[in-house]
Formats: sequence, structure tokens, C-alpha cells
Amino acid sequence: MDAAALRELRGLLGERLVEGAERLTRVSADASHLACVPAACALPRDVSEVQAIVRWARRHRVPLVVRGGGTSLDGESVPVPGAVVVDLSGWTSIHEIDPVDRIARVAPGVVNRTLQEAAAVHGMFFPPNPGSWRTSTLGGNVSTNASGPRSFRYGPTRAWVRAAEVVMGTAERVALGGRSAKRSTGPDLLQLMIGGEGTLGILTEITVGLLPRPPRRCALAVPIPEARSLGTVAATLARGLSWGLSALEYLDAACAAALSNTPGARLPGDRPLLLLEIESVDADDEAVRLSALSGMLRNAGLSEDPLVFPDADQLWTLRGSSGEALDRALGPRIREDVGVPLGRIDEYLQELARIAEETGARTCLYGHLGEGSLHPNVALAPGTPRGEEIRSRLLETAVRLGGTLSAEHGIGLVKAAAWERSVGDEGRRVLRAVKDACDPDGILNPGKVLRVPEVDRGRGPSPGASVAGRTPPA
Ligand SMILES: Cc1cc2nc3c(=O)[nH]c(=O)nc-3n(C[C@H](O)[C@H](O)[C@H](O)COP(=O)(O)OP(=O)(O)OC[C@H]3O[C@@H](n4cnc5c(N)ncnc54)[C@H](O)[C@@H]3O)c2cc1C
Repeated sequence: MDAAALRELRGLLGERLVEGAERLTRVSADASHLACVPAACALPRDVSEVQAIVRWARRHRVPLVVRGGGTSLDGESVPVPGAVVVDLSGWTSIHEIDPVDRIARVAPGVVNRTLQEAAAVHGMFFPPNPGSWRTSTLGGNVSTNASGPRSFRYGPTRAWVRAAEVVMGTAERVALGGRSAKRSTGPDLLQLMIGGEGTLGILTEITVGLLPRPPRRCALAVPIPEARSLGTVAATLARGLSWGLSALEYLDAACAAALSNTPGARLPGDRPLLLLEIESVDADDEAVRLSALSGMLRNAGLSEDPLVFPDADQLWTLRGSSGEALDRALGPRIREDVGVPLGRIDEYLQELARIAEETGARTCLYGHLGEGSLHPNVALAPGTPRGEEIRSRLLETAVRLGGTLSAEHGIGLVKAAAWERSVGDEGRRVLRAVKDACDPDGILNPGKVLRVPEVDRGRGPSPGASVAGRTPPA
């Protein structure tokens, strides 16, 4: 970026412009294996400053990468070369919780856990609970359409966004959606922002729906024999939704072993496990539901007594650290996030077994089984030709089986090319028109889910190609 442009931005933000490689390290990476030190990091204090930054970026054609908690897994929040990071993690105000309208109106930097704690005071909760709930922000959750164990019952973040205030790539400020629970007013522009990964606009305020907290929740860990067909188990237990089952998770034996080594885990580590959650009204209701669940477990061929966790969130926090447990057990690896229809899960597992046999690499799989949201892992280094070839195979198999190449984490840098291939020429044309309307200069998070090759080319090397590799923490 030219020095005059940077001077102009410094004039605009003063000390709220962070510069210098050392100070920028914090915002140079996310939880993927990628990193790239940006040109600077802006800490705007209000919406008009965000608009001023966008106007400046348009004038000088500088890429802007919005950042929340920086926990994304595919390079969604990794800066592209020459970019200015717009860090909104300091925007942590909960403007309003309204138990009558059942909404929370928050700044985008509010951490998921903080919102849960604030809603609990009113006897409410925000259903999406990604494993990163202690560190990821609402801005990031909405922009990646995050989900978690309880999404089996309540759906992903998309289902809970009521309204947003957005600064578009044109610098216009728009208000989308409203406070009411239902809306049937034609094509929904708000939905475009959800999962947009900061490529269409910058969310400066978010209104989400809340629900009354269920009076009781308990979580269970159920060992399952290696030989059981996982697809049959998934399809049988998914019917438990009508019996208060609110989470249906799976850990294969390798993942259960890795997680059981976490201090305080209290999990058996020698077999695959199902992790379940049951919601109920009171102790009697819980007993009825547990008995119905036992019947379903027997129908699915599972006879061992479950281990009960009275504090379900404790189990979900532990489950959310599966990736870190596998960092310790397997080291750098291809870790994926695909969606597969329940009826095709066994075919997906067969492909993973073939990959293990052909490559000799250790593999493991876990995920939100009730929704076919699977995380296959293969212990091959990301960024290497062999590793990336296996990644493509993991993604293409999911799509071939009628699924999708991301069930929850998003596209980012890692899957941008695979995503473009999967939407085809027609899909690309429409997405391109949307991008042009929202961000005509292609300044918002280029190289990610909505790429504008001509604009990217004008800036030099493709951002995806020139981002430096980084070894994930062991
Ligand atoms: C240990 C661990 C467990 C995880 N578990 C889950 C899980 O269970 N389910 C799941 O879905 N994901 C999970 N993730 C992935 C990640 O936490 C989610 O994608 C999360 O939603 C990212 O939020 P963030 O605040 O960290 O966003 P960031 O990483 O900062 O940003 C993510 C994307 O959103 C954009 N963005 C951020 N804020 C804004 C804004 N205000 N306006 C516009 N765009 C914005 C960024 O530009 C980027 O493209 C996990 C990650 C880790 C490290």
C-alpha cells in the first residue's frame, strides 16, 4: 500500500490504527494453518468510522478483512496481502435483551458465551453453541453461519438472526430485518449476509432471537461397538428429536481416545462414543424421556449403560476442544468439515477407510452426527500436494453423496476454489452479480467465499496463493 494512503488512514484513526509487524501478529492468523501479516489493523470506535474506513479503502483499492474472535478454521479471517484488518472484537456492548420480544441486540464483538450468560439472567438462551462459544463472537458466528451440538434441535445461527445493521462495500449503512419473529417480505437480503464471511458487508449491530431455557438438560456419553453401522445409528436416533433429544454427536475411537486424555475429561477412551443431550421439564419428565431414549438405543443395537453428565455445557465445552485434543494426538493434518445425508454416512466412512489404507496416514472422524455434519481428519500436512489432494477427495466425496463441502465452518481461503467448482458457471454468475451490487470494488475480504478474479489480479498475486503457510500449534 502506498505511504500516502496509510498516512491518510492514520490521520483518520490516530492511535486506533495499529502498525508494525510485531503488533500485527495477533491479527495475522485464525485457527487454520494459514497466516499473513496485514499492512495495518484498524480499531474503529463507531459506525461512522467504519464507513470512513470503507470509503478510504474504495479510494485506494485496499482490501479490508473484518475480524471478530479470529477462531475460524479455514482462513476466513486470515488477512490477504496488503490488507487492513478491521478488528471489531472490542465492540462488546450488549445493547438490549428483551424477554418479551425474545431478542438480544448486540454489537458484533460480543462473545457467544457472554451473550449466553446475559440471556440466562432473563431465563433465556441463544441456541447456537459452537465449540468455540467461549471465544468466538456474534459477528463471526453470523458471518460463518456457525452451529453447535444443539443445532440438531434448533438449527444453525441462520435460524436465529432477526436483524442486522450493515456497512456495505459501498460504505452505505443499511438496516436489514426487524424484531418480529416472522417475516415474509420477499427475497430476504438479511440472509445474504449470513455466511457471507465479511465479503458483502460489515455487520455493525446484530439482533438475534432467544428462547426460554429448558428447565432441565442432561448429557450422556454412550459407548458404541466399532462394528455398528453409523448411518443406521444416526437414522434411528435422529427420530429422538420428538422425544426431547437436543444433541446427537459422534466421536470415533481415535477421537474419543484423544479427548479422554484431556484433564478432567471423565470419558472412556477405548471405543467410539455418542454424546447426547436430553431436554425435559422436570425429573419425572426426564425419566420418561431417558427411558424412551434407552429403547431407541437398543433399537440401534446399543446396549451399554450411558454415562450421565448433569452439566451438559461442561460436556459441550469438552467436545468443543476435540480439535485441540487431535492437534496433540495427530499433529498437523487435513481436518475437514463436510455435510453428508444420514443415509450416505456409511459410504463416506468407507471412503475415509480407503484413504487410510492407501496413504498409510492415521485418520479419525467426529461430528454432529444427527445432522450428518462430519469432521474427517487425515494426518497429512496441509499445503502439501498429497495433503491437498486428499482434502479434495474428502470434499468431492461429500458432494457426490448429495452433501456439501462445509456443514458449519465456512469456505475461507482453504475451500474457495472447491466452492467455485461446486457452484458451477451459473452459480458463479449470480454470486458475482450479488458481490458487484454489495461491494463493487471487491475490497471486502477478497479471495474468500466470493472471489472477484479480475479485481484480485489487478492487485498482484492471488491472495490465496500468496498467503504464507503456518504450522498449527501442536
Ligand atoms: C476450538 C474451536 C471449536 C470450534 N467449534 C465450532 C463449532 O462447533 N461449530 C462451528 O460452526 N464452528 C466452530 N469453530 C469455528 C469458528 O469458531 C466459527 O466459525 C466462529 O463462528 C468464528 O467466529 P469468530 O468470532 O472467531 O470469527 P472470525 O474468525 O474473526 O471471522 C470469521 C469470518 O467472519 C467474518 N466476520 C467476523 N466479524 C464480522 C462482522 N462483524 N461483519 C462481517 N464479517 C465478519 C470474518 O471476516 C471472517 O470471514 C470452532 C473453532 C475452534 C478454534
